[in-house]
Amino acid sequence: MAPINETFEYDLVVIGGGSGGLACAKEAVGHGAKVAVLDFVKPSPRGTKWGLGGTCVNVGCIPKKLMHQASILGEGIHEAQAYGWNVSPEQATINWPALVEAVQNHIKSVNWVTRVDLRDKKVEYVNGMGYFKDAHNVVAVLKNGTERVLNTKHVVIAVGGRPRYPHIPGALEYGITSDDIFSMPTPPGKTVVVGAGYIGLECAGFLKGFGYDVTVMVRSIVLRGFDQQMADIVSSAMVEKGINFLHKTVPTSVEKNSEGRLVVKYRNAEGQEGAEECDTVLFAIGRTALTEDLKLENADVKYNDDNKKIPVNEREETNVDGIYAVGDVLDGRPELTPVAILAGRLLARRLLASGTDLMDYSDVATTVFTPLEYGCVGMSEETAVKEFGEENVEVFHAYYKPTEFFIPQKSVRYCYLKSVALREGDQKVVGLHYVGPVAGEVIQGFAAAVKSGLTMKILMNTVGIHPTTAEEFTRLNITKRSGVDPTPATCCS
Ligand SMILES: Cc1cc2nc3c(=O)[nH]c(=O)nc-3n(C[C@H](O)[C@H](O)[C@H](O)COP(=O)(O)OP(=O)(O)OC[C@H]3O[C@@H](n4cnc5c(N)ncnc54)[C@H](O)[C@@H]3O)c2cc1C
Repeated sequence: MAPINETFEYDLVVIGGGSGGLACAKEAVGHGAKVAVLDFVKPSPRGTKWGLGGTCVNVGCIPKKLMHQASILGEGIHEAQAYGWNVSPEQATINWPALVEAVQNHIKSVNWVTRVDLRDKKVEYVNGMGYFKDAHNVVAVLKNGTERVLNTKHVVIAVGGRPRYPHIPGALEYGITSDDIFSMPTPPGKTVVVGAGYIGLECAGFLKGFGYDVTVMVRSIVLRGFDQQMADIVSSAMVEKGINFLHKTVPTSVEKNSEGRLVVKYRNAEGQEGAEECDTVLFAIGRTALTEDLKLENADVKYNDDNKKIPVNEREETNVDGIYAVGDVLDGRPELTPVAILAGRLLARRLLASGTDLMDYSDVATTVFTPLEYGCVGMSEETAVKEFGEENVEVFHAYYKPTEFFIPQKSVRYCYLKSVALREGDQKVVGLHYVGPVAGEVIQGFAAAVKSGLTMKILMNTVGIHPTTAEEFTRLNITKRSGVDPTPATCCS
């Protein structure tokens, strides 16, 4: 350990140049600190690599949202015809290489802007793999193999995670993950997606939207951790779009057949075995924190043996003085970009300025960008019932037909809202859930209201914006307990 009064070369070294690390570093230099950020991307088993900016920019939120957008635009071509456009949906096909090029060009421009931004703000960027020599000395292994030691007062670990592969024959050899799909040079073709968390479902959704056959293999439940009624609506809509679901099923091997196609063998919970031939197998079975290369033992930093994640207290402090962690590498915190960014910023303010605010990890809103989008904030219905007891929870719900659904005759089943509230007094809202168009945009504003203590009384006294889908939240009045049909009779009363 370095002596206490040592003068350090840096005030802060951040290991990991993704959402959390960059936000923390940029905030820190704003308070006059001398800061270096180390970022290094190990190629995926398929050899895919990318530039500065971390998961979100390169292989996460951004390319995912762009592909989702491309997919719903395809759907829009069908709707446009109903609105009078002279377009022929039958002739509309996706040009996969053109899509990938457009997505990758955008990513490269973000990589570039990120580098320029760091240079302008005087954050030193080190393109090297970091590990601990001790608590105040971080080693950067540079591209050419040479090592550079950075002596620092504080270290922030923001290394994020990478997709996991199952331990089955052929998985590493033939499978891809979300690390590869957004830059695949050739069309994925018929795809088996293994995993039904949000990443698996989102990939399955846009691939089907492009016209590829998709099968989703679900080990236990769809969208674990989310409200299960909403998860059912999302997956039923995917089934209606022609996506095949294999429930309670796990893959046992991936092989290549004599025609060069992949064969995924699987077994279900009843022990029945089967096989599916396809062109691409995409594993989305979870992510592992990238702590193994950090040599945490050299600095005595504790991590969780099971998931390799780092436990921290409410100040993002690890068990070692001067070493902190933010973002996906944290044990038991939401793995979302805005969470990593805000935690990184607040940490830098506390370390290098007079900040005192702590990151509040509760009531974080999120959206699943499946073909039928799902946005939510706060508790699921089942969590609220478990926490407060069924007799103390009131659930308000409604199906809704947005104005824009009428002309293309889209089903009212594709827009559903519910508010999970306490039953007593003004009925505090503890969770809001929405499936329908632009779910992220709808839920974002309500998230601030929920954080401010929204009640059903306030919600019902809020005047809506007509005609929008979000306004339906202000008109919720049917409780599940009443048994009244939540399907609307008309749009405007
Ligand atoms: C397909 C997909 C879709 C997603 N969609 C969304 C979404 O819609 N909305 C949302 O909010 N979140 C989404 N996420 C999650 C989001 O991307 C992450 O929560 C976020 O990127 C986490 O930021 P981070 O700073 O913790 O880590 P990262 O962004 O992963 O950055 C960590 C960086 O550190 C580097 N690194 C690792 N080890 C070392 C080392 N030893 N030395 C140097 N560098 C190292 C890594 O290569 C990486 O560049 C998505 C993720 C995926 C995979």
